[in-house]
Amino acid sequence: MNSGAQGQGQAPIFILKEGTSQTRGKTAQSNNIAAAKAVANSVRSTLGPKGMDKMLVDSMGDVVITNDGATILKEMDIEHPAAKMIIEVAKTQEQHCYDGTTTAVVLAGELLKRSEDLIEQNVHPTVICEGFRLAAEKAMDILSEHGIDVNSEQSKMLNEVAKTALTGKSAGAVREFLSDICVRAVICVGGEEDGERYVDLDDIKVQKKQGGSIRDSTLIDGILLDKERVHSGMPRSVTSASIALINSAIEVKKTEVDAKIQITNPNQLASFLDEEEGYLKGLVEKIKSSGANVVICQKGIDDLAQHYMAKSGIFAVRRAKKSDMEALSKATGASIITNIDDLNSEELGHASKVEEKKIGDSDMIFITGCESAKSVSVLLRGGTEHVVDEIRRAFDDAVGVVSVAWEDGTVLTGGGSVLAALSRDLRNFAEGVGGREQMAIEAFAGALEVIPRTLAENAGLDPVNTIIDLRKAHAEGKRNFGVNVYEGGVKDMLAANVVEPQRVVEQAIQSATETATMILRIDDVISAKSASGGDMDAMMGY
Ligand code: ADP
Ligand code: MG
Repeated sequence: MNSGAQGQGQAPIFILKEGTSQTRGKTAQSNNIAAAKAVANSVRSTLGPKGMDKMLVDSMGDVVITNDGATILKEMDIEHPAAKMIIEVAKTQEQHCYDGTTTAVVLAGELLKRSEDLIEQNVHPTVICEGFRLAAEKAMDILSEHGIDVNSEQSKMLNEVAKTALTGKSAGAVREFLSDICVRAVICVGGEEDGERYVDLDDIKVQKKQGGSIRDSTLIDGILLDKERVHSGMPRSVTSASIALINSAIEVKKTEVDAKIQITNPNQLASFLDEEEGYLKGLVEKIKSSGANVVICQKGIDDLAQHYMAKSGIFAVRRAKKSDMEALSKATGASIITNIDDLNSEELGHASKVEEKKIGDSDMIFITGCESAKSVSVLLRGGTEHVVDEIRRAFDDAVGVVSVAWEDGTVLTGGGSVLAALSRDLRNFAEGVGGREQMAIEAFAGALEVIPRTLAENAGLDPVNTIIDLRKAHAEGKRNFGVNVYEGGVKDMLAANVVEPQRVVEQAIQSATETATMILRIDDVISAKSASGGDMDAMMGY
């Protein structure tokens, strides 16, 4: 179908390229809503402690097993434009808050589902959007009054935040253990500037190492290199390490152009080799005289140079990653040197210990007790690659939420309690607004209950009874009551230590609202013919 304007008796004027298609009005809307709802439904069953995992197999046959909404949606090959917008919700949530991705997506889907009913009753989409905007704004006001301060019992609260984020993941069994690592790591690297707390998660370097059990994971106050020393004659460990960071090769410099040296007698060869040897010896001498006893080189180290270093008792590593060099520089205070002639004691960094240790079946280097130690490493272990990968994702979520909670200093109770409370407050608020917007605000309030309802469903509880119990508890002023996924019914979530950062909840509500309204405002979809020549319209259901 092509769009054109018909003049009086004139031939139609086509403004769009041949093959472009256009879908308008309710059809466009209901297609978009259906696609968005389909995405939300695909992750619904993973929500909460009793949520299930998904196994994703890509076209190459690689397998990912996860419970993480953002990961699932990233791996799914989704084409529909409205569905893609929902995936953006998950991405935004992940970037800003590290957690709450499934919540945000499920909420966006529910908001759209409720809008569909309103559109059917002839409430105009712009009215719905306005109502949703008012509701979300009011929700933010209400939340800002109900945050729980974490500072009084900081490590306990942060631990609970981490544990809540880890519940229901395959890492759930060791959540105490992992939470403890997360909290110690965040408190260690966290800083304060102008009264604002901040955590740079780049200062927490995570290394995965397959083998062993999850419980063999450790937090290292310093840096961990997945490397071994270059020469077995070097010491295995160096105390009071003075570290040189060098980003050029410790080798005889190769000429840029190919040159041939004609050697005519054995003496010449010997003197030529002597010269090379002398040069390398000189380099090592320079390193030694700077006072360095550890050398981390970003490039290669010549065999002969390795030998001289080993003889001088220097511990050396070659081909370190650039990111590791930068982290080492930050942690030990060393400057990264290109020319060994520039090396002197001022350029060196310091750590109380540099040590090579066997982890699993390979060696790793531990650099601990760093001088300017605002950098920690976490070594994650797990029996198989899939386990380590999922532990890594779980750890990233948990350390992320702990950092958010530490920065903001406020948390809210989980298990759907906050959303149930908001739902009730917004229903009251709607009454005062009146008109058609009131209907939209009521729809918004109802949509928030999708989270406790889904938590109940996934836990095998009766969702209707659970919502009734929840509403009853909240009517009695028990604001912290949420779904008791383990025993059924409802329960005080603060007492059960189910807490999550306020920012996670706020962001989930905001991005779900923004995306839902964005999708609702679309009443015209104009799509170009797909490049592959396939029938884009049929695929998208237009
Ligand atoms: P998301 O991707 O949205 O973080 P999750 O699968 O991690 O999804 O589930 C998060 C939801 O589970 C939150 O609503 C949280 O409050 C809830 N939750 C976590 N632990 C518990 C618990 N012990 N009891 C009840 N609800 C919980
Ligand atoms: Mg989560």
